[in-house]
Amino acid sequence: MATARKDPRDTPAMRQFRAFKQQHPECVLFFRMGDFYEMFDDDAVRLSRALGLTLTQRTQGIPMAGVPYHQLDTYLRRAVDAGFRVAIVDQVQDPKDAKGIVERRVTRVITPGTLVDESLVRDEAATRIACCALEENTITGAACDLSTGEVILFSAHPRTLADALARLSVAEVLCAEGTEETGPIADACAELDIAITPRPAWQLRPDEALQAVRNHYKIASPAGFGLEPTDPEIPPLGALLRALAETQTSDPDDPYATGAALDHLRPPVRERTDSACIVDRISLRALEIERTIRDQQIEGSLLALFVRGPAACRTPMGKRLVRDWLCSPLADRARIESRHARVEQLAFDETLAEHLLDALEPVQDVARLAGRLALARLSPRDLVALARSIAQLPALADTLADARAFSDAHAHLDALRTSLEPLAHTITTSCVEDPPPHLREGGLIADAVDPELDEARSLQRDAASWLADYQARLIREHDLPSLKVGYNKVFGYYIELPSAQARRAPAAFTRKQTLKNAERYITPELKDFEDRVQTAQARAIQREQQIFEDLCAQARDHLPRIQDFAHIAAELDALLCFARYARMRRWTRPTMTDEPVLRITDGRHPVLEQTLAASFVANDLDLPDAGPRLALITGPNMAGKSTYIRQNALVTLLAHAGSFVPASEATIGICDRIFTRVGADDALHRGQSTFMVEMAETANILNNATERSLVILDEIGRGTSTLDGLSLAWAIAERLAATACRTLFATHYHELTELEERLEGRVRNLRVLAREFEDQIIFLHRIEPGRADQSYGIQVARLAGIPDPVVRRAREILASLRVHETQLQATTPPQTPTDQLPLFTEYIRHPAIDRLRETKLESLTPLQAFDLLRDLKQEAENNSP
Ligand code: ADP
Repeated sequence: MATARKDPRDTPAMRQFRAFKQQHPECVLFFRMGDFYEMFDDDAVRLSRALGLTLTQRTQGIPMAGVPYHQLDTYLRRAVDAGFRVAIVDQVQDPKDAKGIVERRVTRVITPGTLVDESLVRDEAATRIACCALEENTITGAACDLSTGEVILFSAHPRTLADALARLSVAEVLCAEGTEETGPIADACAELDIAITPRPAWQLRPDEALQAVRNHYKIASPAGFGLEPTDPEIPPLGALLRALAETQTSDPDDPYATGAALDHLRPPVRERTDSACIVDRISLRALEIERTIRDQQIEGSLLALFVRGPAACRTPMGKRLVRDWLCSPLADRARIESRHARVEQLAFDETLAEHLLDALEPVQDVARLAGRLALARLSPRDLVALARSIAQLPALADTLADARAFSDAHAHLDALRTSLEPLAHTITTSCVEDPPPHLREGGLIADAVDPELDEARSLQRDAASWLADYQARLIREHDLPSLKVGYNKVFGYYIELPSAQARRAPAAFTRKQTLKNAERYITPELKDFEDRVQTAQARAIQREQQIFEDLCAQARDHLPRIQDFAHIAAELDALLCFARYARMRRWTRPTMTDEPVLRITDGRHPVLEQTLAASFVANDLDLPDAGPRLALITGPNMAGKSTYIRQNALVTLLAHAGSFVPASEATIGICDRIFTRVGADDALHRGQSTFMVEMAETANILNNATERSLVILDEIGRGTSTLDGLSLAWAIAERLAATACRTLFATHYHELTELEERLEGRVRNLRVLAREFEDQIIFLHRIEPGRADQSYGIQVARLAGIPDPVVRRAREILASLRVHETQLQATTPPQTPTDQLPLFTEYIRHPAIDRLRETKLESLTPLQAFDLLRDLKQEAENNSP
């Protein structure tokens, strides 16, 4: 008999799935079903491919893939890394209570910029989401670290947007629909490989956005944040708040809803680029501040000194702050000196540093704990960690009581201590010392905290002895020595009598089951006990959840103060790390000045001095106010030119970030920017040649460097012919000397050293010493005034393993070129000295070339052409040495 086949897509669960999919078309859905999160249809196909999941079928024609619910975080991380946006659909109703299909809801949307769970975020850097708006020729933006609630407003030129996004460690950009594919916002995101998400354009309309800002912060006007309703930052801020709200659902009436309000978002703060020493993205990369160029690892970068190893920051929030300090150094002398003063006190007062270290030791990532608290994603362990961290407030405050440089921090901590100590006390006394990772099986709340919980627990614990007592009582009361009280999974608790004694069973015994040789009974008393035991565990867990929620709610009332504490603790951690590192490596406090000078004695490269230890050779630099500000560094390859110029940039940057510096003495004039252009870049994949990239980066420097900037240039003009390269390098050096920015210019064109005489007082020659010894080259890594007379390229090639015959041949060629050059110089009439370089005419003016130029090919017979050729050859042979 034919039955109508049911459409497999027309089930209640699939209808639910489709409805959510319609709400979040840009996301893949993780759809909770029992112990799994399932994906269907196209989501299943794409994710199974990207994450290597097994692809199955739900029913015919519906592809399906799934991940166990307890491994959700692992798969989320991988899905987000693979570029997916994920909407989590949870069951928001106890399946036992469901009539028909269990109710579900999208509880979170997870995107690259909105990761908050501990297992998803990186320790060392914030992950920010930003919304950008283009207005005429300016881009304004609002960026948020959802995990800590910090909100930053920024503005940038279309050309410098990528710098801002890199500096702020932005992982995802929101923009008005229609601008996600072309235009400056799209370009910057493409360059940095940042996810871009279009938002409805109306959300960026000033009035709509203002409304969102007002609603979120519950304010009538943004004036309290220093913002006018018409300020250009309002549209991106409003649109960002709206988008963030969408990623977290909230329903206080529903205990199953996991989302929450974004109460932890702090008032927006404007990024102050006017008082910042700007380090653009190219310089951040070239100086290997956050990552190494070669393998993109933290190991080997400047940041690694402070986030790895013995002096590393104690807390992840300290590490993130150091990262931000290094990527956004200050240009405000007072603020820099205030950091230096605090580092100094910690570096010199060892006892203070040790006490502070001890006090910070138990402090965890309070900034992110506060974020998870607000987002209702706090785990039992998080709650206890939060309390333990807060409990360090008195120790921290007491430690700083007499520390002059920390009087502000001390006063602040003292005030916080009064309001937060009771909270820490309540939590620590309510919870066990070693809490479980989640509340599924309870075990967080200590005994003797809550009578109802204690009762539920004692019932479970005492079940065995109650049963033994009960059995003894029945035997005694009814004189039935063979009576047993037992338990079985299917039938529950029972009283058992051998069949032979069944007729003596008291009337209160109700028969439950008949076995071959025995009868089983239940009594109202035993039934009651059974009910109580069975529900005791569930009740205990429920009660624990309730208490946990209450404790979270109490903590949430203190959110702004907890965040203040996080901020101070992070800063103390970062300063202490600077101080401990300085002490360990004998770094010194730099003197900051407003004059554009750079004077460094015994400077070292902060990373290399660590790897090379004692064999690192320290070097000086002196770029005075009234004297040459451009140092031209020549010397053999591998001699240490790049190391020298980078180390001076890093010393300058460290000083501006508030750190001590690797030098015995340093006087550093405040810089408005640090520009670095070094080595070949990896921009080839973007379709630009190395040379093109080099020139674009140099153009940026020439167009933007001021008298207050520091410019580091390494090997300009390499990617083209020698003559092109030399002329460009020459002209660029001249221009920088005219700008009078402090410049370190490393070059293998030793011809440039002439500039010292030509631009007298503006250029100084430095060279790296190398010695030739029995045809070998020995690098001394010492910098001294003067010019290198040769490049030693052939010696270095030999060191590198170029075969001997090739090296010999190269020497021959070099010798003949040198002779040729000398002859030409002898035959060239002397030039009047000008700023112009008379170099190329010399190369071109060869008599043979002149004759060829004069020849009219069209009037030559083949024979005449042959004669001409023979003449030229004769001439060349006569001229050869
Ligand atoms: P260049 O730019 O002149 O080609 P580098 O700066 O790249 O040379 O230096 C080459 C190598 O020399 C470095 O990797 C380092 O090992 C060593 N080196 C450079 N400077 C020093 C120094 N001051 N002390 C000791 N070794 C150094």
